[in-house]
Amino acid sequence: MSTMTDTTRRLLDGTGADHDAHVALHGDLPRISLETVLAEIRRSGLTGRGGAGFPTAVKVRAVAASRRRPVLVGNAIEGEPLSHKDAVLLARSPHLVLDGLELLGRAMRARRVVLAVTRDQDATTVAAACLTRRIELAELEGGFVAGQETALVNQLDGGEALPRDPFTRVSDSGVDGRPTLVLNAETLAQVGLVARHGATWFRSTGADDDPGTSLFTIGGAVLRAGVVEAARGSRLEEVLAPAQPRDATAVLVGGFHGAWVPATELGVRLTARDLAPFRASVGAGVLHVLDDRTCPLVFAADVADYLAGESARQCGPCLNGLPRMATDLGRLAAGARDATLPGDILRMSRLVNGRGACGHPDGSARFVASTLDVFRGHVAAHVEGWCPSAQRRIAS
Ligand code: SF4
Repeated sequence: MSTMTDTTRRLLDGTGADHDAHVALHGDLPRISLETVLAEIRRSGLTGRGGAGFPTAVKVRAVAASRRRPVLVGNAIEGEPLSHKDAVLLARSPHLVLDGLELLGRAMRARRVVLAVTRDQDATTVAAACLTRRIELAELEGGFVAGQETALVNQLDGGEALPRDPFTRVSDSGVDGRPTLVLNAETLAQVGLVARHGATWFRSTGADDDPGTSLFTIGGAVLRAGVVEAARGSRLEEVLAPAQPRDATAVLVGGFHGAWVPATELGVRLTARDLAPFRASVGAGVLHVLDDRTCPLVFAADVADYLAGESARQCGPCLNGLPRMATDLGRLAAGARDATLPGDILRMSRLVNGRGACGHPDGSARFVASTLDVFRGHVAAHVEGWCPSAQRRIAS
């Protein structure tokens, strides 16, 4: 996965594992109190870059409020197959991520400070960087739900990569039963920059209500797939431009749990507010371009099948709902001439929503419902046994 030249580079101009070069580039990591760093993060408006977009200051404060010494975990497990931003960040600028861990670990008097990566990830650079910083590196199982906070804690406690009891917050009882703060790798790198340069600097780019920069992984029908850094609130077409999209019909924003933005709307700004009408969010920064030769229903059926297979099969919606949704979507993609299929799929997507112990069914349902909505012309044609992308009859 390459990195591309972009105009807003705060995170990717890294120095690899060389700590001296990192300090020469960014200066020494300041020693600041928890209250100071918390105040600065709050003023910066930094939100999590792992997907949920939760205010980072609130998350840190929830764990810092405990009287017990916490565990701090950097999450670089990119369960989303379309996302590579954390892997690129760790290869290019590992010390920025470790800065965030070290700084918060020190300020919170953390009992353990851990960086979690997947076993199949090339962790050579970050492993060398961790050695110089006394930060534990945990190489764990990957998988779509493995990066989910409770699944990550479960693995660090020696269990499987499965989400666990949603009623016990990891901020109260996580790794080793201690209050645990899990922050995404990119979020930690941003914390390292905020601590050095301050909230005003952080807010000098991006939108007023969504400041700073983000990493985006761009793929699909583009000439140059890769990871770019862009200001939050940039227009979708501006962020995509360096990748040179080809014949786009729509862009999947936010990955397999995301939603489609039609090609007619590429001027939309990438903020929570502007993306809300599409039921999309920036999430972990995945932008996947679909071209006019790729059938969106075939693409979506493959994704739905993958998502059904990636569930932990612990809850009803994952056990029954997701496989049923994937099967029906597969039939629709294959041209089954059954006019009841679209309604059945939509009903199932509503049924599974909000019923799981984690957000996997909700995200899967959001993706499927968005597919039926944005590609409704395709849906109607497939029911008639015709695929507009393939330009041929497909009736099965
Ligand atoms: S909703 Fe699905 S993925 Fe989430 S915990 Fe339940 S079975 Fe596992």
